[in-house]
Amino acid sequence: MYNAKSMIAEEFIDDAEILESLAYAEAHKNDRALIESLLEKAAEHKGLSHREAVVLLDCELEDLNERMYKLAKEIKLKFYGKRIVMFAPLYLSNYCINGCTYCPYHAKNKHINRKKLSQEDIIREVTALQDMGHKRLALETGEDPRNCPIEYVLESIRTIYSIKHKNGAIRRVNVNIAATTVENYRKLKEAGIGTYILFQETYHKKTYQELHPTGPKSNYAYHTEAMDRAMEGGIDDVGLGVLFGLNLYRYDFVGLLMHAEHLEAVHGVGPHTISVPRICPADDIDTNDFSNSISDDIFAKLVAVIRIAVPYTGMIISTRESVAVRKRVLELGISQISGGSRTSVGGYAEEEPEEENSAQFDISDRRTLDQVVNWLLTLGYIPSFCTACYREGRTGDRFMSLLKSGQIVNCCQPNALMTLKEYLEDYASPDTRAKGEALILQEAAQIPNPKVRETALRYLTDLEHGMRDFRF
Ligand code: SF4
Ligand code: SF4
Repeated sequence: MYNAKSMIAEEFIDDAEILESLAYAEAHKNDRALIESLLEKAAEHKGLSHREAVVLLDCELEDLNERMYKLAKEIKLKFYGKRIVMFAPLYLSNYCINGCTYCPYHAKNKHINRKKLSQEDIIREVTALQDMGHKRLALETGEDPRNCPIEYVLESIRTIYSIKHKNGAIRRVNVNIAATTVENYRKLKEAGIGTYILFQETYHKKTYQELHPTGPKSNYAYHTEAMDRAMEGGIDDVGLGVLFGLNLYRYDFVGLLMHAEHLEAVHGVGPHTISVPRICPADDIDTNDFSNSISDDIFAKLVAVIRIAVPYTGMIISTRESVAVRKRVLELGISQISGGSRTSVGGYAEEEPEEENSAQFDISDRRTLDQVVNWLLTLGYIPSFCTACYREGRTGDRFMSLLKSGQIVNCCQPNALMTLKEYLEDYASPDTRAKGEALILQEAAQIPNPKVRETALRYLTDLEHGMRDFRF
């Protein structure tokens, strides 16, 4: 029986409710009056329910689809402006005891190179990331309590925050590790993590069990209820995601939104971010083995409808996607992208030799961070290295209320410009620097609040004189 407030996975992700929602959408995909009314409701920027959203996803009426894309762009602009937050993944260890059939780190893969970074390795990796200009990391590990216990993850976080190389600093560490206990989530919180990210992969229980035949991750309920334990452990900001292409995308889309509704219903705050990875080739993984993989067009529509359904949730895309796809979905709703990523263990300080392949997936966008920043500037975006909210204690419901009232823009815009300025001063190529300076000049003059504008302009000058780390 569907109950968004239940703490039982099979009740807040109720299979019957998903199937009914899908049938409802199928029956109404050409229902002009209903779809128009949903678009009008969505235009108030307060979101849509999972059932309403899947009607939009299925809509076959071209003119209304066009309106939908327009609305997604409008919402993106209203809540996120032209800012795109930059981050990089850091793989600590690829030891894994699970049997996920879509990931080359699965325990039975005997020929992939298993690696785990020592604290000295981490210092080298993070120094290299700082030298690129990164300020925000997403830590990634496989699940292996013996080779990669929580104590190792905590020690690594401490190491990362302690490294200060030239003007570099990692100011926000988000963590993507296996589902764990409330006690361990509490320890992560105390270590000062930003967002706890865990991908559901698929919400379809039977498929989930087939894709996860062995290891602790095979427990669907334990995995699906992880975000509740994380929040019980004091982590305010959690990041959801499904691996599109593992199951029928419509089913997972509804499940994802139901999960967001559940978090809002129980904890009073929805997910901080939603990631939209698609299955992609890797060491012993062939995407042709997954018959549900989705086209670029469907992928773009998924991004647009998620943007409309949950306007307050940041959306993340990785370097799995090509430059062309990244460009297309940036305007439809994506607010965070990775740049210059390595998906192997230890790939930043030194390029990994091909025979040592330890990567989780093949990267499609292989550009350097500077090239990505330059590209964003050319497209008219403001690459942002901002990490201010978590450091100012603006997390969870405090963050959401600032976002919903629109006040956060007073922080995001100047913070984006100031962190971009830091990047330009310390790391950018001459061309990127010229483009960035021109953009800062133009955008700083448009900060609406005169007091904030005046302070931001002063900080921007201070940054030119060697001072660092200003924030609103
Ligand atoms: S997806 Fe995660 S848990 Fe599964 S095999 Fe890969 S690293 Fe391990
Ligand atoms: S001010 Fe907060 S919401 Fe805005 S970009 Fe910075 S960290 Fe994100």
